[in-house]
Amino acid sequence: MCGVEIKKNGNGNSEINNNSTRNYENGNGITKINGNGNGITSNGVHHSSRQNDDVVINLDQGDPKMYFPYWKNVDDKCTITIKASELMSYFADVSNGGVFYQMPEFTEAVRRVHRVVGNAVADDRYIIGGTGSSQLFTVALKALASTVKSSTTDYENYRIPVVCAEPYYSCYGEALEEGKSEVYKWEGDANKFKVDGPYIEVVTTPNNPDGRCREPVVNKEGGMVICDLAYYWPQYTPITAPADYDVMLFTLSKATGHAGSRVGWAIVKNKEVAMNMIKVMTLETIGTCHEGQLRATKLLDFVADGYDDQLVDDKPDGLFEFGHRVLAERWEKLRAAVESCGAFSLPDFPSDFCNFWGKHCQPNPAYAWMELKSGGEAAKLMSELKIRTRCGTRFGVSAKYIRVNMMESDVSFNLFLERLSTIKLE
Ligand code: PMP
Repeated sequence: MCGVEIKKNGNGNSEINNNSTRNYENGNGITKINGNGNGITSNGVHHSSRQNDDVVINLDQGDPKMYFPYWKNVDDKCTITIKASELMSYFADVSNGGVFYQMPEFTEAVRRVHRVVGNAVADDRYIIGGTGSSQLFTVALKALASTVKSSTTDYENYRIPVVCAEPYYSCYGEALEEGKSEVYKWEGDANKFKVDGPYIEVVTTPNNPDGRCREPVVNKEGGMVICDLAYYWPQYTPITAPADYDVMLFTLSKATGHAGSRVGWAIVKNKEVAMNMIKVMTLETIGTCHEGQLRATKLLDFVADGYDDQLVDDKPDGLFEFGHRVLAERWEKLRAAVESCGAFSLPDFPSDFCNFWGKHCQPNPAYAWMELKSGGEAAKLMSELKIRTRCGTRFGVSAKYIRVNMMESDVSFNLFLERLSTIKLE
């Protein structure tokens, strides 16, 4: 159970304790609350009471805590030490094609891990680091919008529509609407997009929330694509070919599980778009944190070493084997629990040949996209079981759907299954 235990505190409420000595090592996504959580009825579905019912399980965010046991085992092999006098300048590399804030070893580690995994073409492309891929998403939008605006005056007062096929990752629209940009605007579902003129389509593949592999759906003149490949790693999905879109986004958060480091990177083909992105990065934050880059470099190199045929004696245990095994086991257990509960359905995924594993494999998505068969509000039913999930409406679809984080800690995932088993159809 990844170094955690459940014990009663002085008030008789359950809480999840983390056995680690430093409290920033690992939360468990579980909040201590009052109340017994018994006897709740919703949507014609009953559940009976069980132990630990008073503990809230947070499966709403995509926090990747499942990777903790892997990295706990590695720990000192990936330590970095930074002296007070190091990494002081704004500049990390003035010769790096304009990305002055980026350490060359970070750029090389990104290229190396993509070469080893075969999930994206990264050689002869611009690699642009950001504070997570969340930052790079808006940076890419601004850069693409300014390439359109600088090429012609036809679109001076035009806000470039940004679309994504539903169900879409909830933060895209939310970030755009919050940003209130004058150069682009969120237009929602790409399948309903009919307007002529420049537009940007975001393609998330495999998709968050439903795990499906995707391609652009609009395919009209003037279209630009940002491909979000946060989950295009072998633990989540078969790697069928190296992705080679104009603008691709990746994040350390889902590649290795180090979400707190806030490191993402864009792989960009076109020089003008790349230069515009660097300009936005410069104006917004004068680049990214060098400490984060250094840590990401260490972690990505460690992962790549695990698959380096030149290394024989000192080859680390593979991160992707670990991630694939944990997720495959969880999906198997979840499918069995969902079948015996009967209230929900889950998507089926076709297997495909994975170039990385060298065999046919089943996808193991990072989220379970669950549909409440009776209709009604699935997230409400889950919250009655003290399970936080994300409602389908945030992804542009019905409230009968919920997204459940499959990357939480073992203890949270197991409690989730336990509570699912208390649901009884009327
Ligand atoms: N894109 C997708 C599809 C995601 O699921 C997430 C994280 N949930 C992000 C981007 C943002 O990742 P980061 O932590 O790098 O900001």
